[in-house]
Amino acid sequence: MDNIQNRVKALHDLLNQYGYEYYVQDNPSVPDSEYDKLLRELIDIEEAHPELKSPDSPTVRVGGEVQSSFEKVNHDTPMLSLGNAFNEQELRRFDQRIREQVGKVEYMCELKIDGLAVSLKYVDGRFVQGLTRGDGTTGEDITENLRTIHAIPLKINEPLSFEVRGEAYMPRSSFIRLNEEKEKNDEQPFANPRNAAAGSLRQLDPKLAAKRKLSVFLYSVNDFTDFKATTQSGALDELDRLGFKTNHERARVDDIEGVLAYIEKWTNQREQLPYDIDGIVIKVNDIEQQDEMGYTQKSPRWAIAYKFPAEEVVTTLQDIELSIGRTGVVTPTAILNPVRVAGTTVSRASLHNEDLIRERDIRIGDSVVVKKAGDIIPEVVRSITERRPEGTLPYSMPTHCPSCGHELVRIEGEVALRCINPKCQAQLVEGLIHFVSRQAMNIDGLGTKIIQQLYHHEVIKDVADIFYLTEDDLLPLERMGSKKVDNLLKAIDDAKANSLEHLLFGLGIRHLGVKASQVLAEKYETMDRLLEVTEEELVSIHDIGDKLAQSVVTYLENEDIKALIEKLKNKDVNMVYNGIKTSDIEGHPDFKDKTIVLTGKLQQLTRKEASAWLELQGAKVTSSVTKNTDLVIAGEDAGSKLTKAEKFGTEIWTEEQFVAKQNEISS
Ligand SMILES: [Zn+2]
Repeated sequence: MDNIQNRVKALHDLLNQYGYEYYVQDNPSVPDSEYDKLLRELIDIEEAHPELKSPDSPTVRVGGEVQSSFEKVNHDTPMLSLGNAFNEQELRRFDQRIREQVGKVEYMCELKIDGLAVSLKYVDGRFVQGLTRGDGTTGEDITENLRTIHAIPLKINEPLSFEVRGEAYMPRSSFIRLNEEKEKNDEQPFANPRNAAAGSLRQLDPKLAAKRKLSVFLYSVNDFTDFKATTQSGALDELDRLGFKTNHERARVDDIEGVLAYIEKWTNQREQLPYDIDGIVIKVNDIEQQDEMGYTQKSPRWAIAYKFPAEEVVTTLQDIELSIGRTGVVTPTAILNPVRVAGTTVSRASLHNEDLIRERDIRIGDSVVVKKAGDIIPEVVRSITERRPEGTLPYSMPTHCPSCGHELVRIEGEVALRCINPKCQAQLVEGLIHFVSRQAMNIDGLGTKIIQQLYHHEVIKDVADIFYLTEDDLLPLERMGSKKVDNLLKAIDDAKANSLEHLLFGLGIRHLGVKASQVLAEKYETMDRLLEVTEEELVSIHDIGDKLAQSVVTYLENEDIKALIEKLKNKDVNMVYNGIKTSDIEGHPDFKDKTIVLTGKLQQLTRKEASAWLELQGAKVTSSVTKNTDLVIAGEDAGSKLTKAEKFGTEIWTEEQFVAKQNEISS
């Protein structure tokens, strides 16, 4: 046994050393395979001898048990935020105030990493707890997820006890890889690395967090008693020495001119960094001087965050392209001379609608200013009229549909122009794309490009034609092998069995969304019964409003639609609801057939989880409190819904009561 213990100790030391070289110093001394082999050995030993697994074993990097929620924990000292400066003038004012108070100072300039602020607690040299900033006073305990970040040492070489703070972030390369994977799986990609980092650290499954390849930069300690440093730069050096990862682009400067030069340098070079930054942090370097200046209610007086302005670039507007959506709405898109903005090349930007183009007097041929709204969606901010070439004309929208030539109309109360021709080609193609989309018939492999080709070759003219496709129709298409054709035909065949609500949603009936499709399918069970339904009947259903009822009945009365449905039936497309009927669910009598509203912040489970559970018990979960509401479950900070429930005398439960009931039922 002693031998095994010694081997475990040796493996810890080696793995910690290699991890440190790779993830903190960025300078590995052994190949990845060596690390993996030793890690495997340690995992095997721990499986055979669970008593030898310690909380700071390098095997925790792969992620532990799934958690049910994150505990809220008070910070030992509050995590303050910094005051902001947006321009040189504000920075000079900050400097002047400091010099008036403490005389000449040195500044420490550091990159402001765009990630998630975290606080790590070490006791006797061991990492014991990691919290998010939260509201600054109370954070969430995300220790298990933080343990999976290799750059965070689980143990340091000196038995110190202190809290160290920093920023957890996702390197750009990890971010790009993650989003590629998400796109492949047809999942919503993350908007930016910061969101991706925050989302990963708030994963309840640490194994998932472990896969996300996060890193961290540490930048401050909250208590200097155990620290030998007398300056911020000394503290960072000390963190380096103890094995923490700090950012090495930092610079100590003599005065505000040095600060401004540092800012200029990184404003120009930020795109070359392998991670995102959103500004520069400037701190008085001397800790005694810091103490002398002290704090305001919200932030230290001796530090400030300079925020980069949203990047704006100038390019030429080459054209304005119009696209017609499924419902006939005409959307203008700016076609730009390709230009790099905030990390990506932009060649198109939405112009939203005619009013916006007119308000901003944007003309084809103009030099235009482009930025990314929320750093994501490209937007044309304005035209530079001083640079306008001669002979441009104010833009006017066409009077007729660019696809079918039908006259465009502006429906009262809407800003959008619409093509109302039911036979408009562009709309029909969009309708076909909608029909095969995930929440509708979910036909894998039938992408936009294929549909466009099939439509333009007149192989498919309506949604029913999809089920009549043969190998001979598909094989001649671009990039279509026989394997692909087989898969596609199989996917189409499988889709025939879909439950009725998918077909209903897929037909693209105006105002009929996923949820209402579900309600109708469940209520009427077959298409034949739906075809006979009246507006009055529909309006009497709880979730169906006048506009929707009218739209559904008008649609189904149309002779062309009746023919379309027959055409679908001839190919055995299912017209029956296959889902679970709420009335068939056994459910618990406390919840079955009850109308329940969830409100406020739930701590122990998400709203989605709570809804799903309640629905399994046969309850109907709705969003607004009415006289018909049977029960309101109120979490923290419940607002107007709770007040309303009190007014109606509705039964109200706390989250604790609800969870207790859940436990009672499931035990
Ligand atoms: Zn049209």
